[in-house]
Amino acid sequence: MKITKIEPMFLAIPYEHGAPKPAMGTGAARGTMDACYVRVETDAGLVGWGESFGFACCPITHHILKTFIAPMAEGRECDDIGALMLDLHRRVQNMGRNSPLIFALSGLDIALWDIAGKAKGLPVHEMLGSSGKKKRVEAYASLLRLDTPENVRKVCDIVLSRGYKHVKLHERTVEATAAARAALGDKFPLMLDTNCTWTPEQARDMAKRLEQYDLAWLEEPLFPPDDYAELARLRKATSIPVAAGENLGNLLDTVRMLDAGAVDVVMPDPIKMGGVTECWKALEVARERGVRAEPHSPWFGPGLAAGLHLVGAMPGECMIEYYFADLAEQPLGEMAVPKGGFLEIPDGPGLGVTVDEKVVAKYRVA
Ligand SMILES: [Mg+2]
Repeated sequence: MKITKIEPMFLAIPYEHGAPKPAMGTGAARGTMDACYVRVETDAGLVGWGESFGFACCPITHHILKTFIAPMAEGRECDDIGALMLDLHRRVQNMGRNSPLIFALSGLDIALWDIAGKAKGLPVHEMLGSSGKKKRVEAYASLLRLDTPENVRKVCDIVLSRGYKHVKLHERTVEATAAARAALGDKFPLMLDTNCTWTPEQARDMAKRLEQYDLAWLEEPLFPPDDYAELARLRKATSIPVAAGENLGNLLDTVRMLDAGAVDVVMPDPIKMGGVTECWKALEVARERGVRAEPHSPWFGPGLAAGLHLVGAMPGECMIEYYFADLAEQPLGEMAVPKGGFLEIPDGPGLGVTVDEKVVAKYRVA
């Protein structure tokens, strides 16, 4: 089977989350949930869908797929995904091993797994060796940044009413964390993600002040995210478990992070670090070393489906992150909306999802 066409498409879908819209890294408000989908056609007539990390305000992943990856991969045999992806990684090695180029390859890899599963009549989780016994996975409510304690309280109340069993904040203050703890109650599992904000000294100080809130983990407390030695020091200095990994660019990054003893919870992302192929290897390395893994996959399209298959194939218990945001329309339909805090693991061939091309066309911006 040969790849005949690779088409990237950027989507920007409006959403509501019960509070004012948070600011992006650029300073502009995040008014839409953005995604770069990758549609791949083959000469066998099979179509696969993947997803690459990116934002519509920075469409570099889309550009790389269109102008660089598609011309290189169209016409290539794709029955052996590992061999094709290895060749592509080798060809682009001098363009950054943790970069939009790897995000682009990630989307292609996921689409090829979708196609391979459709060709074999098997769901991706089964191709990865799952027993098929895991039917659903807990989706934890990952709250967008709310900033004020009032907004934190308000959104926590909505989250509780929808039946979620875990909540993660994207906040940076003791006050916001305290507000969530008060709204959720003492026993409710709560995590905090700062998105790489503190210096090592600030992180040690903040961790001490946050210990009283019984956090299940403290995620990405440091900048830069790949300072594994300082993450390991922080781990020794606090009783809060330390989580990180969504900024891992490849398998060897993961090995280095684990070798440094940097984290209690590792979080590789299939749409950022090389697709199903590389993310699965990272999860296997974590399992061999006895480190808890929680794949990062808070997406709404093929990236979410890839995450669900990875979690479905993992032997142990594990959750999936879900941005607490109600999209104007869901490209994957109702399967992508948690019910009572759970998502079902798709069981159809490939990713086992149907991408609604009318929804894609409506919200496509590139
Ligand atoms: Mg995170």
